[in-house]
Amino acid sequence: MAPRSALPYTGSMNTQTKGVVYDAIVAGGGFVGGTLALALAKLAPEGVRIALVDAARQEVSANGPKDARGLALTAATKALLDAVGLWPALSPNAEPVRSIEITDSPLNASLRPHFLGFDDEMEAGDPGAYLVEAGELHRVARAAVAAEKAIDVFAPDSVDDFETDAFCVRAHLASGATLQGRLLVAADGRRSKLRERAGIKSIGWSYPQVGIVATVAHERPHHGKAVQHFLPAGPFAILPLTGNRSSIVWTEETERGQELMAGSEEAFVGELTRRFGHRLGAITLEAPPQSFPLAFQMARSFVADRLALVGDAAHAVHPLAGQGLNIGMRDVAALVETIVETQRLGLDIGAGTTLERYQRWRRFDSAFSATVMDGLNRLFSNDSAPLRAIRDLGLGLVDRAPGLKRFLVREAAGATGDVPRLLKGEGL
Ligand SMILES: Cc1cc2nc3c(=O)[nH]c(=O)nc-3n(C[C@H](O)[C@H](O)[C@H](O)COP(=O)(O)OP(=O)(O)OC[C@H]3O[C@@H](n4cnc5c(N)ncnc54)[C@H](O)[C@@H]3O)c2cc1C
Repeated sequence: MAPRSALPYTGSMNTQTKGVVYDAIVAGGGFVGGTLALALAKLAPEGVRIALVDAARQEVSANGPKDARGLALTAATKALLDAVGLWPALSPNAEPVRSIEITDSPLNASLRPHFLGFDDEMEAGDPGAYLVEAGELHRVARAAVAAEKAIDVFAPDSVDDFETDAFCVRAHLASGATLQGRLLVAADGRRSKLRERAGIKSIGWSYPQVGIVATVAHERPHHGKAVQHFLPAGPFAILPLTGNRSSIVWTEETERGQELMAGSEEAFVGELTRRFGHRLGAITLEAPPQSFPLAFQMARSFVADRLALVGDAAHAVHPLAGQGLNIGMRDVAALVETIVETQRLGLDIGAGTTLERYQRWRRFDSAFSATVMDGLNRLFSNDSAPLRAIRDLGLGLVDRAPGLKRFLVREAAGATGDVPRLLKGEGL
């Protein structure tokens, strides 16, 4: 097997990895697992060894599988990506969000009155958020992981099962290999097999909605403005990308969404234009749109014996505020801070006391954010006139309260609460 390097992976242990006891075995090399592995490799005491296992091939070329999402990353996530060395490569293609406009009206309304805007509050400081294309984040993160000597990559392969004892965890891979480590991290996404194997139950439900994502080019510049139209079927977001381009996150009722995806491109662009409006001139699709099923999920525990859950394996939220990955990055920053402090004391990073500290730090915060997203989706995704009157009154009141708006901008940037040091741009 060729962990990490350019040689093709064959699924067997080589002489450098046989008998190694890793500090951490990270199952899942998505955005969250990849960032966690890099953060440990760069920030933990010298000599740390990490195994990163991912079910997917770790493509670094632009020809890899396409992910059409534009990801809104908070200033706090940007600070973490900076600390692990990813931001310099991402920044030329990251578009700062300069202002936000929120509207709430039915699709056929002739006017879309603007109820809430964030403009002056955002211009006062550094941008609270940036838009980065998911394909770009995959490419930059995978290249950095492949170049990192402290990380052995096992991909494509997957952790199928694991067992623990007082000293270590053994992860059994689909290829037949077994890896040993002090700690196993489940970063294996919403349908986490490791969460299931650990017997951790979760609370959750599917939304009767899909999230359609697409990248569009338009005639006029967006000036960094993000727009959120609350429509009865779900929120429709226009998020600024570099150049005269925007990323669309279009929440639609499941059946209608499937019809749109199965129909012609012309019909799709026609419906898209009805929602997008004509403010930025004519629009064209850059690539075929993609659709994602949407669900709420919250693990009842974020830890088990020598196991920590991070990212969507621990919590999945509605994408209406673009927070899912940002919440996952808070897990990364909190877990890395906990691990590094434990290592410096010479203690066991997989011990129950270490993991409890991580869980106390992250579980309530994640549950709170997930519940707020769920509540907003329920409040706005309907066509009830009395509810519209109440929420529009609320939006109007917030719009007239500059202090509250500044607080909301800081909250959205991930700068409030018990923030891990890496998210504040501080060293460990
Ligand atoms: C439409 C849409 C728009 C979104 N927009 C935003 C946004 O603007 N901002 C934001 O912050 N968030 C956004 N999100 C949420 C964000 O995409 C997710 O929160 C994030 O991708 C979760 O990352 P993850 O690494 O935890 O999981 P995943 O991305 O699901 O990665 C899991 C990884 O684990 C691997 N894997 C699975 N099983 C195993 C196994 N047994 N062993 C080894 N590897 C395994 C998979 O191959 C995969 O690479 C959006 C989501 C959707 C659906």
